[in-house]
Amino acid sequence: MSGEQDLGITESKEHSPGEWYAEVVQKAGLADYAPMGGFIVTRPRGYAIWERIQSHLDGWFKDTGAQNAYFPLFIPESYLEREKDVVEGFDPEVAWVTHGGHDELEERLAVRPTSESIIAPFMADWTRSHRDLPLRLNQWCSVVRWEATETKPFFRTKEFLWQEGHTAHADEDGAWDETMTRLDQYERLYEEVMAMPPLKGRKPPHDKFPGAHTTTTVEALMPDGKSVQAATSHYLGTSFAEAFDITYADEDEEENVAHTTSWGLSWRAMGALIMTHSDDQGLVLPPALAPTQVVVVPIWQEDTKDDVLEYAADLAAELEEADVRVELDDRDHRNPGFKYNEHELNGVPLRIEVGPHEVEDEEATLVHRPDGESETVDRDDIDDTVEDHLDTIHAKLYASAEETLEGEIREAESREEILGTIGQHGGYVKCGWCGDEDCEDPIKEAIAAEIVMVPLDRDEEPIHDDCAICGEDAEETAYFAKSY
Ligand SMILES: [Zn+2]
Repeated sequence: MSGEQDLGITESKEHSPGEWYAEVVQKAGLADYAPMGGFIVTRPRGYAIWERIQSHLDGWFKDTGAQNAYFPLFIPESYLEREKDVVEGFDPEVAWVTHGGHDELEERLAVRPTSESIIAPFMADWTRSHRDLPLRLNQWCSVVRWEATETKPFFRTKEFLWQEGHTAHADEDGAWDETMTRLDQYERLYEEVMAMPPLKGRKPPHDKFPGAHTTTTVEALMPDGKSVQAATSHYLGTSFAEAFDITYADEDEEENVAHTTSWGLSWRAMGALIMTHSDDQGLVLPPALAPTQVVVVPIWQEDTKDDVLEYAADLAAELEEADVRVELDDRDHRNPGFKYNEHELNGVPLRIEVGPHEVEDEEATLVHRPDGESETVDRDDIDDTVEDHLDTIHAKLYASAEETLEGEIREAESREEILGTIGQHGGYVKCGWCGDEDCEDPIKEAIAAEIVMVPLDRDEEPIHDDCAICGEDAEETAYFAKSY
């Protein structure tokens, strides 16, 4: 049958992860490449996954005091220049608008690489007294960073979708709590919704967000041994508030400078999700994010067709009533084998097979997408049974990702050991570190691995007494990895 050859994934996750990833994204109908290099088109199936990620996070944000707002796509150059670290940090990546129609603009406009510089002046306006604080804004939008790298859907694109939260607080404690609340929500998203165990930490000082006091991060390990910065939450201190005059009168009418935060998660989370769970049959999705959670596939001969179809339709209707996202695949012109392959490619977490035997015995056969495990169950209480199986599928995905992560954190005590271990295995290598950026350089130059994080707790004792690179006293534990 023509078409069947087009369906399968031909690349191997193990041997050619880059090509395999690109093939899964396209064949599972998540995204296509746009005509301009660095841009992608997100197809409905891909966008549906993003919407579910969005809806989980958005609910938690609102439950914890954040409100959504929307600011312009363009930022006047003079606004961008008000925080010098931001200008310097983003300068090579900013796309500029110089003309409106045929007329040259008096002031060029930056296409937002991030929105601190356009949001902060309004936060300053809206903050008069301590009663206006905390002020918590969030924006769902796209940003543009003109990086000249090879396009990798959801991982590396010049324009990407994200959310950016921006908050102002009366003091450091309030702002620091906020930073951690958001970091915990990102961790929760990865664990409970995406079935991935992330590592939580801080960026080393030389790699924090431009202008930030502290950048906290959740990092996720990819199957090719590289780390992905999966979301970040920044405590900005008072630098942005000073640059943009976010001040407030306290209870004694004294003028104070606010402390601010910003925090963001992009669709790179989707890239990490696809790469972590999917396999050589195609996409694998955790049930919480799958647009279709269950597909019911009836298997019939001419003489059993009516009975099987009626039974399958009833079953699907009952699941739909229980709010399971279910699809009945009763297409006449496709055989069951073709349908199985297609739903596996598209990452439907649970397949229910219904044939004459199931009808006769009032049963249903459930097959798990991630590992093909199947079980024949009673037709009674099928909605509860299916919910249990979807939970089991989430747990299986999580356990498998966790097992991979645990085996991929190793220790090293010398520069050679760091290079050898990452060179051979990839993954994370933790070691003592003196805190000097210069000690990262030789690792970066030799194998393009860097310090992706240090422990969140500043008081935590380093795992070794000496810096693995220079031998001086270690200040903290550094996690080295190659990263996206
Ligand atoms: Zn050192």
